[in-house]
Amino acid sequence: MKPSHYDVAIIGAGMSGLAAGIRLAHFGKRVCIFERHNASGGLNSFYSIAGRKFDVGLHALTNFVGPEVKGTPLTKLLRQLRITRAEFALCPQKRSRIAFRDCGLNFTNDFAVLDAEVRRQFPAEAAGWGKLVDLVRTYNDVALDAQPESARAVVGRYLRDPLLTDMIFCPLMYYGSAQERDMEFGQFVIMFKALFLEGFARPLDGVRVVIRVLLEKYRQAGGERRMKCGVARVIEEGGRVARLVLDDGSEVTAEHVISSAGYPETMRLCEPAKIVEAEQNTGVLSFAETISIFKEAPAAWGWGDDTIVFFNDSERFDYSSARDRVDLRSGVICLPNNFEYGQGALPEGIFRVTCLANYASWAGLPEEEYQAQKCHWFGEIQRSARRFMPPVTDETLSANLLTTDMFTPRTVKKFTGHCNGAIYGAPQKVRDGRTHLANLYLCGTDQGFLGIVGAMLSGISMANFHILQGSANR
Ligand SMILES: Cc1cc2nc3c(=O)[nH]c(=O)nc-3n(C[C@H](O)[C@H](O)[C@H](O)COP(=O)(O)OP(=O)(O)OC[C@H]3O[C@@H](n4cnc5c(N)ncnc54)[C@H](O)[C@@H]3O)c2cc1C
Repeated sequence: MKPSHYDVAIIGAGMSGLAAGIRLAHFGKRVCIFERHNASGGLNSFYSIAGRKFDVGLHALTNFVGPEVKGTPLTKLLRQLRITRAEFALCPQKRSRIAFRDCGLNFTNDFAVLDAEVRRQFPAEAAGWGKLVDLVRTYNDVALDAQPESARAVVGRYLRDPLLTDMIFCPLMYYGSAQERDMEFGQFVIMFKALFLEGFARPLDGVRVVIRVLLEKYRQAGGERRMKCGVARVIEEGGRVARLVLDDGSEVTAEHVISSAGYPETMRLCEPAKIVEAEQNTGVLSFAETISIFKEAPAAWGWGDDTIVFFNDSERFDYSSARDRVDLRSGVICLPNNFEYGQGALPEGIFRVTCLANYASWAGLPEEEYQAQKCHWFGEIQRSARRFMPPVTDETLSANLLTTDMFTPRTVKKFTGHCNGAIYGAPQKVRDGRTHLANLYLCGTDQGFLGIVGAMLSGISMANFHILQGSANR
């Protein structure tokens, strides 16, 4: 017989829910994570087809710094979750690129590379760029009470060239904006630090390593996890969560509930539901991704230098909900083989391309038509992305190709429950994680710390702030 009362119930075994669970279990809380699916990781998981594992999410773990750098998000989360650097075994990127029609900017985990590229290619912007970087470095991006401000407006005070502005916004939006065309400035700062001042890395075996370590820490700390056990309803009494009704109809109670399901999703779970609030703050930005597996690493045909390429071919970079099924004008290419793995190497070549995609136009398709549209857009996405890579013939790629797969906004919705398949959730974030119910808090995407590292930090900070308080810095 499963226990039915916990100190803390957590909705969702994604990165944020797992991190919150570890933190709370370390402090002796009786905690249970309820996950609707049979796999942990949420947006950052993996699946197997014919014995081959495919990552979803993780292109690169952001915020990577070396062991000598203290006081950054990565070092903080490792310390608070009691994870050693060796356990994550992170390997740094080689080099990434922002590739626009007539201009490219390289960047690495050494900020001096991007800094020099900007100053060389946009000399008239050098002074403003320097001041913007100083502002980013000194800005308090973790204040839970920060007032929202438009990043476009703030950056516009420092940079006048729209091309440079768009080139800087492109990677930051693709890796962490739930808002169309603009970002909240605090979010811009978080992403600027995460991508440019810190950097990219990944474990050789990808996201599986991160999930494995988190699950092991959680288990060792005594946390309980109930898989294929969704929370169907959050029942309110007297301004508090009185109990949770699970998908199988059984009920549990908890002193505190942390939800990583997202803001509108959580508001819809509440009974009485907060439908208006949910509808006013639902994200629309979703992605489609193609994955190609090759016999050899892409270096074999000259694609050995780039780790991540953020591309755009339109006059102005337009980060908005795709008008067509997929927006081919911009996207992100990820080449997982091109990290510095030392003696190790991936057994096969991998080429992933992510583009903005329209949830509604994928959601309603009958199965046969859905598969046909996937086939069509797979080819279109590949063609679009290859314009930004060194030339290679179709014959070379076909001869090397082992298999392909593709996911769409519909897949994201199905496996994570996020409304509209919105990868970065609701446009308005709830920085302090509070809700209309005194003992229900949000963590993860809609609390506002995005990406893998951000999601884990969000889980830690919400556990610390709302539940552990005084004991949190140990
Ligand atoms: C294609 C793609 C590429 C990405 N690339 C990167 C990258 O390179 N680097 C990076 O840092 N980040 C990347 N991200 C973003 C990163 O994956 C997310 O920001 C992060 O994983 C969010 O974690 P979370 O815990 O907030 O939410 P989620 O991962 O969404 O976790 C929420 C969990 O809650 C569960 N759930 C929902 N409703 C219920 C319910 N009612 N009952 C029980 N369980 C429920 C869901 O099944 C899910 O497991 C990428 C995401 C995608 C999709």
